[in-house]
Amino acid sequence: MKKEPKILHIDMDAFFASVEQAYNPRLKGKPLIVGGRADKQRTVVCAASYEAKALGIDSGMSTQQALRICPDAEFVSADSAKYLYVSNQIAGMLKNYSPRIEQASVDEFYLDITGLDKMFGSYLDLGMRIKQEIVRRFSITGSVGISVNRLMSKIASKLKKPDGMMIMPREDITFVLKDLPIQKIPGIGGSLTAKLHDLSIFSFSDMRKFPADFYEQRFGKIGLWMYALAHPELIADDEKINWINQKPKDPKSISHSYTLVQNIYTRSEIEAWIQLLAEMVGFRLRGHNLQANTVHIYLRKPDMKFIAGEKNFKEYNNDSKQIFKRAIFLLDKLNTRNVEVRALGISVKNFMPATNNFLLADAQKRYQICNALDKINQRFGDWTVYPASICSII
Ligand SMILES: [Mg+2]
Repeated sequence: MKKEPKILHIDMDAFFASVEQAYNPRLKGKPLIVGGRADKQRTVVCAASYEAKALGIDSGMSTQQALRICPDAEFVSADSAKYLYVSNQIAGMLKNYSPRIEQASVDEFYLDITGLDKMFGSYLDLGMRIKQEIVRRFSITGSVGISVNRLMSKIASKLKKPDGMMIMPREDITFVLKDLPIQKIPGIGGSLTAKLHDLSIFSFSDMRKFPADFYEQRFGKIGLWMYALAHPELIADDEKINWINQKPKDPKSISHSYTLVQNIYTRSEIEAWIQLLAEMVGFRLRGHNLQANTVHIYLRKPDMKFIAGEKNFKEYNNDSKQIFKRAIFLLDKLNTRNVEVRALGISVKNFMPATNNFLLADAQKRYQICNALDKINQRFGDWTVYPASICSII
């Protein structure tokens, strides 16, 4: 008999805020807001510590609103290099458990752990060991879900947030999730939720009442996806899993995206996120010693539809500030008026090796500064330098 696949999903708890608290113990135990930009009054909450979440502050909110809720909240501006550094360290650590690893975002990973229960005693023991090693090495916590595929393991880890763990074998899924509100299922956003509510579908067990045709006629491909997710008994054991990151090689594109806890609406909120993502993309591009001339941005709406733009620019670049400017140029071409944004991302592609033949002295200076800061971060990893904020004000 074939072994049932076991996928482990781990999601760090309030990642950006937890990393800041780990780095600066003075912030531990306090409501902390990580802002998209340095301007405390005029930016967006990128992350909130659990102490801040308990007061009702969450990412996606304007910092003005957050500071009205808690005027004494601590504030730091987001430092993408710091989070990427920790993220890379965590990825390296997880590879020691299973080489079949996929990084879903800066703080989320999937591991194929099928059959590893024998090596670690049980899947529960394996999950606990991973959780404990993350606390010991990084002073942050993560939540773990173990189930038969990516989606189910992600639902399991979300149900036990923060600092929890849940093992959900296939035969338990329909019972464990029976009362789960549909909006808690990753991928079902505000607009799909409303449409399903109109059809009197409120919970996971409601989703199971209708045949595949019912969903396909009303929702097309997404409908079939919904039908499949509601019927875990139909998941094939040999479902093809295309794991990335098995062999490190030069990437074809470098991207970063973020799914928000709350939808955002305003241009300044969208810009703050784009700035953060541009910094992350630039950091990685420089790490590969590459430059790119094609920038792509996308905004995903709550109904899973995308607005996207892409352009080949004349000059190659790996400067975060330039990537940000190009992303804003693309954003200006998109119609984002009254658009609700649930997730957004930037990617760059069409690479060539980085050079440092700058005609302009200030470009040369920026290159040297960005590079030096990246190197210090990579070598010492003590997060004492802030390329993101320094680069953006030069
Ligand atoms: Mg997380």
